[in-house]
Amino acid sequence: MRKYAYLWKNLLALGLALLFVIPASLDFLAMRRDEPIVRTDALSQVRQLSDYAPGLTGTALDTEIYFFDSGRPGGVFLVLGGTHPNESAASLAAIAFIENIRVQTGKVLVIPRTNRSAFSHTSPLDGMQDFFAITLDDGSQRVFRVGNRLTNPLDQWPDLPYYRGASGRELRTTESVEMRNVDRLYPGSLQGTLTDQVCAGIKNLIDQEQVNLVMDMHEGSPEFRYLNYTMYHERAKNVAADMAFEMQLAGLEMNIELSGPASLGLSHRSLGDNTNALVTLMETYNPSMGPLHGKMDDELVIDGKEPLYRQAHLDGHIPFKIPEEGIPLDVRVARHLFCLDSLKTAYNYSFPENPIEFTGFSDYEALAQAGLGALLQPVANTP
Ligand SMILES: [Zn+2]
Repeated sequence: MRKYAYLWKNLLALGLALLFVIPASLDFLAMRRDEPIVRTDALSQVRQLSDYAPGLTGTALDTEIYFFDSGRPGGVFLVLGGTHPNESAASLAAIAFIENIRVQTGKVLVIPRTNRSAFSHTSPLDGMQDFFAITLDDGSQRVFRVGNRLTNPLDQWPDLPYYRGASGRELRTTESVEMRNVDRLYPGSLQGTLTDQVCAGIKNLIDQEQVNLVMDMHEGSPEFRYLNYTMYHERAKNVAADMAFEMQLAGLEMNIELSGPASLGLSHRSLGDNTNALVTLMETYNPSMGPLHGKMDDELVIDGKEPLYRQAHLDGHIPFKIPEEGIPLDVRVARHLFCLDSLKTAYNYSFPENPIEFTGFSDYEALAQAGLGALLQPVANTP
């Protein structure tokens, strides 16, 4: 009898443990599922980054590349979203771009989840929420992960006390976590860590597909100096300047900044140094990324509204102009999409003999007004 009493006690303990373990596991596994991306008839093919970096095959860092080939000779434009998944407007802009673009001349390549592993976790102890939902105009919802700026340590571990990137950038002590940051390891190495191999895969993609123009989309915390800036490699100077001018003509603030020698390993510096492409990187404001934000909720992530940051601006601590109504995802995504359009226009001014032509994003006001509810397509439409 006594023997059975122990058995029941053990079963009870096991049952109680499962009560917590099962929901936690489901939560955990849900973070590993990629959000669906709607494939339109404009899409030519989807390849994997492992086609350009074989070591990524079967890993959580292998990622999709969406090809839009007009069939007419012209330039090749590569768009990177999700280098840092927690910069939500940059990831969503890449998805909205894929779901709305029409290419008439040349090719457009889009990687919406550049660091795919980084979507599968959030920053520990920061009170992050895991997901947010966008309601579409037809009433359906699409759910997206918040993610993190670094590769998930479950996919790449440990962080070494010293790591030297292919650019010569040395990561040591507190910077050693950056060996899981795609935007520190360009041009990458096929013999390096998985994050390093992502960088090498993108470099090989640029070489093999003869990419002419690159935009790496980002967001920054309100304290960051380069919000509403585009960083450019020196060879991309004229194109970046003309792009900023195009945006200013539409009433948008856009500044440009030359990629400095200290930026080794970042896309605009080290992809620019090691490929023939003109490489640029754009930043928008994201209040959920800085340390001063309050509760992490939809108001913060989707509406981009954080009264504490607004107050810090009013008190003179943050120079970036933070409006009372915040800067919603809709507006930041519209800015990214219009920037891609303006960059293409600027590129065509400099290279009329090798143009890139696509449509869908030439009217900033219309994009901002439509918002993600109209730009994102219902998932049921996926063929
Ligand atoms: Zn970033």
